[in-house]
Amino acid sequence: MMLLPCPWCGPRSAGEFRFTGESGPRPDPTTTTTDEWRSYLYLQDNPCGWSREGWYHGAGCRRFFTVERNTLSNEVRATGGPR
Ligand SMILES: [Zn+2]
Repeated sequence: MMLLPCPWCGPRSAGEFRFTGESGPRPDPTTTTTDEWRSYLYLQDNPCGWSREGWYHGAGCRRFFTVERNTLSNEVRATGGPR
C-alpha cells in the first residue's frame, strides 16, 4: 500500500488522493505563446525517477499540495503546500 504524507492530515492511503499532474513553473500569460500554453497544460515529462507532482486530498482535508515522488519506488521525500 502506498502512503502519501498530506501536510495537514499526515500519512494516508493513496486511495484518498487524486493525482493532479506534474508541477512546474507556470508560464507568464502576457508573454507565452499558444503552443507553450498547450504544452504547459497537456504535456507531461513522465520521468523515470524523481518527479514533483500535485495531489488533491479529496477524502480528507480537500486541499491541494505538492510532493516529490520517485516514480520507480513510490518513495516520497518532501511535501509542500499549495501548488
Ligand atoms: Zn489532508
